[in-house]
Order: sequence, then C-alpha cells, then structure tokens
Amino acid sequence: MLKNELPHIFTSAVPGPKAAEILKQRREEVPDGLGCIYPCVMKDAKGAIIEDPDGNRFLDWIGGVGVLNVGHAHPEVIDAVKSQADLYFHGMFSVVTHPGYVELAKKMNSIVPVRGEKKRTFFVNSGAETIENAVKIARVYTKRPNIITFSGAFHGRTLLTMTMTAKKSYSEGIGPFPDGVCRAQFPYLYRGPEGMDEEQALAHYIRQFQRVFEESSPAGQVAAVVVEPVQGEGGFIPVPLEYVKALRKICDDNGILIIADEVQSGIGRTGRMFASCYWEELGLAPDIITFAKSIAAGLPLGGITAREEIMQSIPGGRIGGTFGGNALSCAAALKVLEIVERDDLCGRAADIGEKCMTRFNSWKEKYEQVGDVRGLGAMIGIEFVKTKAGRVPDADLVNRIIENCVHHGLLIENAGTFGNVIRFLAPLVITDEQLEAGFIILEDAIHTCSTYWN
Ligand code: PLP
Repeated sequence: MLKNELPHIFTSAVPGPKAAEILKQRREEVPDGLGCIYPCVMKDAKGAIIEDPDGNRFLDWIGGVGVLNVGHAHPEVIDAVKSQADLYFHGMFSVVTHPGYVELAKKMNSIVPVRGEKKRTFFVNSGAETIENAVKIARVYTKRPNIITFSGAFHGRTLLTMTMTAKKSYSEGIGPFPDGVCRAQFPYLYRGPEGMDEEQALAHYIRQFQRVFEESSPAGQVAAVVVEPVQGEGGFIPVPLEYVKALRKICDDNGILIIADEVQSGIGRTGRMFASCYWEELGLAPDIITFAKSIAAGLPLGGITAREEIMQSIPGGRIGGTFGGNALSCAAALKVLEIVERDDLCGRAADIGEKCMTRFNSWKEKYEQVGDVRGLGAMIGIEFVKTKAGRVPDADLVNRIIENCVHHGLLIENAGTFGNVIRFLAPLVITDEQLEAGFIILEDAIHTCSTYWN
C-alpha cells in the first residue's frame, strides 16, 4: 500500500523522464509567477507519500503547506465526498440551504475556542478570504477602521491580505494597497534585542506594541489585532503565552478584538484542535478565529467563527460568495473532524512534535548551522544560520538542503522572513518508520550541504 511505503527514488535523476515532460509543459503553459522549485509531479498520493509518474516515491513533509493533516486521499474522506457528489455539488448557500453547511457550522461552533457562549460560523473558499471577512466583521462590529498586524505575518495574497502580510517581496509592484493596516513587532525571541533576557525582551515587545497607538493609530481607532498563534511563513514561531496575556489585556482595555489566524496552525497541527486552545486554557481566548487549509483535506474551504454578538452585527448581503461552503468541501470537512477526533490526531501531533524536537535539538548540538529549533506540537521550524554566535541567516544553505532532500525523496519547504527556516508540516498520519526515514534524509542533507559548501 502506497500509504505505508518509504521514500525511494528509482530513476537515475529527479525528475525522471515522464515527470520531466510534464514539468516542461508546465513551464510553457502557466505563468512562472506561480513559482515552483520542486521537480516533483503527482501521479498518486496516499497518507504522507506522493508517487510520481516514473514510480519515484516522495515523503511529503509539506502536506500541501499544512493542508493535509489527515494525509493525502484519506479513504473515508474520499467516500464522504463521493456520497455527497452523488446527491449534488452546489446550491449557493445564500439561495438554498444544504444541511452539510449547517452541520459543519454547528460543529465548528462547538469546538472553535473563541470567547463567548453562543457562537456562529460561516464559510468561504480560502485562507485569505477568511482574513478579509474577519476584518470586515471586526470593522463593522467595533465601528473602527484600523487593524494591527505583525512583522513576519502572512495572511494571503488578496490586496488586503498582501497589505497585512509583512514580506513585501510578495506584493512588489502590485499596489496601491488598502489603508488602515498598522504593524507591530512580532515577539521573535531568537532575534530579540541584544543583551536582553527573555523576560526583558517580552517587555520590550509589549512596549513596542503600545507604541503603535502613538505612532500609527490611536487605540480608539483600532478594530482588531490579527495574529497567527504560531507564525507560519514568518518562520514557525509560537507567540509566547506571556505576550498573549499582555496583548489580551491591552486589547480588552481598549475595546480591540483579537483575530487569531489559524489557517496554518488549525485542525490538530499544534497538539490541540486549534493553537488558540492553549490560550483559552489560560482565559485568553481570541474573539474571532479563522481557519482553512487542513479543514477539508485538500478541498477548498475556510471559515470564520466568532461569538454571536460579533457575527450578528454584520447586516445581510455584506458577507458570503458563490462557492463558499460548497457541499463537497463541507462533506470533506465533517469527515476530517471526525477522523481528527476519533484517531486522536492532536495526540499524534504532540507525539510527532516530541520526536521531531528531540531529533532536531540533537542536530542543534551537533551542527554549527542549526541556530534555533522551535514550534508547537507538530508545527516545527529549524532556523539555519552561518554561525551560532553571529546568527546571520543562511538561506542559501536551506535552499541547498531542500534540493538535496528532494533528490533523495523528501519534500521539505522553507519559511521565515529571511528564508532560512525549514518547516515541518508532515501529514499527522505519517508512520514512525516514514518519520525516521525523513530524519535520515534530512540529516544527511544538512551534513552534506553544511560540510561541503563551507
Ligand atoms: N493565513 C496564514 C497563516 C497562512 O499560512 C496562509 C497561507 O499560507 C493564508 C492565511 C492564506 O491562505 P490561502 O493561501 O488559502 O489564501
């Protein structure tokens, strides 16, 4: 069974001849702007393994960038989607009601850890759309125009979410951009102010946050702070809980909502259904949570959940869209949630996370270039530097490691403001043997690339 296979490259080069032909056509037919650095073409995919048309098997530690927590082509998700497809695909929820949408909204209202007793949820098609909608709702509810986002943030590629996204290489030449977006410094402790211990650095970041009210927008004009509980593209950095405590208090004192962007961190990845569950356990739940990616195992779906008072503030017609919450995606999502709960994939994420942390930290001891290892559950980043003492980011090394890995059958991706972090987002159904095979390929690549290139 492909699902249980180990990675293996059978062709003398990657890509093999069949994959190379498809990649050649890709280069001719679609814009380069979509970007693609991997010589990997999919023929079949199950669990954490992708097979290419030449029979090569790749171990997938990217999972469609956090979309495949239940793995590629989970048979129960396939059955759920097939059963729904036999009935109908689409109705447009603002015209006719399909029960899967209502059932899924009810489920999300019972599990999404936002503040409040009675909650409401609606669905869109992508992560960026969830953020667009969360901001619309926060503005209507608070009657304020501005939002605060963070350095290192990634929220998507629509005009508003590109504005909110920190890295400007994503949006160069595409402006003008919407107004009303202010930026605070993300508490990135590994790159915190020199000479400060963790406590001092946190105090520094909290002071920096408050300066936004003086330098960018008065607090009374801020509708919401949008924050990723574990920064994804920014380098897999969890927000320290002490910072969340301070942020929650500042927001409460000033009538500002907290929107947690759980597009990448949600659906079991961090060892809880949502990373915000850790906040909720300390009485620090956010006001709005957005989720997408892994919710529907690869079908397009995103959602926004908030307490009733917030959600009901938006008048009819100002939210919604043609495909949002389509029947096939909702059927997949209901099955995904059933699998995550029944198979305790949150527990498995914690277990995988521990195994990764142990192995990656051993590399931190061993290799001068492994500067930092961090994360939450099975959302883990390894930050590569030229030397431990200097902490100069080494994106070239990361690119070489990624290339070396793919030629040995392991797909991994970079992250981070400086592109010098390797992120772990393997499907949570990965077997222990596959995890071990990945560790071996990755360590060989680190060893080879850092030894022979320096
Ligand atoms: N928010 C976060 C935290 C993300 O990681 C992403 C995508 O990587 C998005 C939003 C945008 O999601 P999408 O690509 O589905 O629009």
